[in-house]
Amino acid sequence: MEIYADNGATTRLSRTAYDAMLPFFGADFGNPSSIHSFGVKASEALSGARRTIAGCLGAGEDEIYFTSGGSESITQAIMSAAEYGTGLGKRHIVTSPIEHHAVLNTLERLKKQGFEITKLPVGTRGIVDPESVRNALRDDTALVSVMFANNEIGTVQPVREIGRICAEHGVLFHTDAVQAAGHIEIDLEDLRADYLSASAHKFHGPKGAGILFARRNTPLTEIIFGGPQERGARAGTENVPAVVGCAAALREACSNMEKNVRAVTALREKLIDGLLDIPGAVLNGDRQKRLPGNANVSFPGISGESLAILLDLKGIKVSTGSACNSVSTEPSYVLTAIGRSVDEALGSLRITLDETNTDEDADQIIRAVREAVIKLR
Ligand SMILES: *Cc1c(COP(=O)(O)O)cnc(C)c1O
Repeated sequence: MEIYADNGATTRLSRTAYDAMLPFFGADFGNPSSIHSFGVKASEALSGARRTIAGCLGAGEDEIYFTSGGSESITQAIMSAAEYGTGLGKRHIVTSPIEHHAVLNTLERLKKQGFEITKLPVGTRGIVDPESVRNALRDDTALVSVMFANNEIGTVQPVREIGRICAEHGVLFHTDAVQAAGHIEIDLEDLRADYLSASAHKFHGPKGAGILFARRNTPLTEIIFGGPQERGARAGTENVPAVVGCAAALREACSNMEKNVRAVTALREKLIDGLLDIPGAVLNGDRQKRLPGNANVSFPGISGESLAILLDLKGIKVSTGSACNSVSTEPSYVLTAIGRSVDEALGSLRITLDETNTDEDADQIIRAVREAVIKLR
């Protein structure tokens, strides 16, 4: 029996999304830009997907853009705000030290181009204090970028409060909602974000499909040049099957959200309790303000990587820190930012559940981790 508990890295494609995509790999292969009926069919599928996604997020259809994934959406949002800021002589950006590399490395590039980047502290709980955002704002601040929820320790940020502070000061606000979309509620009628990024493969949609929300009248510049697709904001023939799968997956996730949040949170609590019973174990990230499925626990003195490998041999798929960092043996920058020692950071295990995981899965994971920890000690 294999247990998949690495949903922070990617999720299984839902049957609904798969079924929705199939025709577009077959008979409905038209290019949405073609004027004949095949093109019209593809174009209508795109509009339908845009309508569905806008509905799930509380956005307007004209505020949703399709990209190749979370990384592209994030890059475009940040680059758009940076270009706009440059035109106004504003070259300061506020962010957190626990952002995904898509944010951090885009900001690194901007730093080389003369931008000044302020990274706010996140404390031991891994949460940005909205007041620290207010205090960091300057006359030349072009953008605030703070993630909705963290991919490693699962902490959910006070984006509602941060958005309000940015709006009060007339500063653009971007939030990387890749881990949040489809998992916890996002309502863009209430959330004062100018840009929001999401990615289909994190909510049971296909890989290679991203959503970029850019609020009406918010600056948006293309980072991929060519044809007039996506109303001139993103060139290239649209990935119709992926976009259709993305919309089907998000609709399904949103209509089951309450039920899923309840079930997955209960399972996570059971898992965290069981893991913290293992001597030496410490929880990473705030216990309450975290994603329903995220459990991140450190076992100081033990290699998290060895733990994950032992668990894999027992059919349990988990990760250490984030998937993007799994090739490096450096301690996680997220765990370092919340004050974990090198020893604690290197002994971390990230277990990310979804609604298909069962009570027995949690029992089995707890038992397997306990055995593996004893073995490695
Ligand atoms: C996965 C992830 C991304 C990148 O999304 P891709 O679609 O894989 O490019 C960005 N931010 C967060 C928080 C993520 O978890």
